[in-house]
Amino acid sequence: MADGNEKEITNLEQAQLDFISTVSHELRTPLTSIRGFADTLLSSGDRLTPEQREKFLTIIKEQSNRLINLVENLLTASKVKLGEEMFVYKSVVPVSYIDSCIKLIKQKYQTHKFVFESEPKILPILIDTDKFQQIIINLLDNAAKYSPENSTVTVKILQSITENLVKIEITDEGEGISEENQNKIFKRFSRIDSPLTRTVQGNGLGLFITKNLTEKMNGQISIKSEQGEGSTFVLTFPIAKVEDPCSKKLKE
Ligand code: ADP
Repeated sequence: MADGNEKEITNLEQAQLDFISTVSHELRTPLTSIRGFADTLLSSGDRLTPEQREKFLTIIKEQSNRLINLVENLLTASKVKLGEEMFVYKSVVPVSYIDSCIKLIKQKYQTHKFVFESEPKILPILIDTDKFQQIIINLLDNAAKYSPENSTVTVKILQSITENLVKIEITDEGEGISEENQNKIFKRFSRIDSPLTRTVQGNGLGLFITKNLTEKMNGQISIKSEQGEGSTFVLTFPIAKVEDPCSKKLKE
């Protein structure tokens, strides 16, 4: 029994140490770059051409944004995990919310094509609309980020009355995800080591947050993908129960 407890504590401590080490590493890389370029600007600023100054300042700004994203993601991840995230539920038809996410992401990935298809008369689902949009934006951002320029990202909304579900599918033409990695990528800080992942920025927290937010709203997330064949992330949410005002009155 004592052995079991000791092992448990050791595992927890190990997880904490791993966490501190990963976060420190994630913080150190952009901070080192910011300090390096700030030092160069201070020590030899007057010898630099205007183009060089602009380039260095742009890197400082990009690396600061990377730090802000990381800290925001860390805060959201811990709030979600500790159950401290507040959810404000509304019964809404999700189509227009998804449409505005696509418009937003389109501005960031101008060479990608985005296709949006929806079955008619989609029924409402019970969601926190801000958190729902955070989920859709994370998935759309990944779909574009991990697929080549000029490729297509397709978003489909379907519903199954018999299963009582609204289904949202986000499909890309990227490098795909092997079955082994599909089990890993929802874990904190998990990134697939591939030539493409190494060139795009990320901290491995997006899907962890996405899965947790989805499940807190009674939804589910899954992946259909094969290595080299693109990926489809599938979200399902239960159709909201209709509060029939007549039956409510009768009960009263
Ligand atoms: P990040 O994008 O910040 O690294 P995520 O948690 O959003 O973190 O994703 C975890 C990892 O899953 C990514 O680093 C990437 O390797 C892989 N991944 C996510 N979405 C896709 C996708 N659509 N296609 C291929 N790989 C993906």
